[in-house]
Amino acid sequence: MLSVLIIEGMGDFRCKHCNKAYTRLGNMRRHERYECLGSLPRFRCSICSHTSRRKHDLQRHIFCKHYKFF
Ligand SMILES: [Zn+2]
Ligand SMILES: [Zn+2]
Repeated sequence: MLSVLIIEGMGDFRCKHCNKAYTRLGNMRRHERYECLGSLPRFRCSICSHTSRRKHDLQRHIFCKHYKFF
């Protein structure tokens, strides 16, 4: 028998920044890296003071704000 009751114990993994609970470590890790508002921005624009928690967003920022080819 699989224990469905484990759902009641949701939150085996908690974000260390905002204490949000996750049942899966992978989801919690993703939250910490990309979603959590408590985590500090990891990527900073070298041209202005813009910061981003996603590398992709920062690359887009640099392209849109600082490199206008069109
Ligand atoms: Zn969090
Ligand atoms: Zn910038």
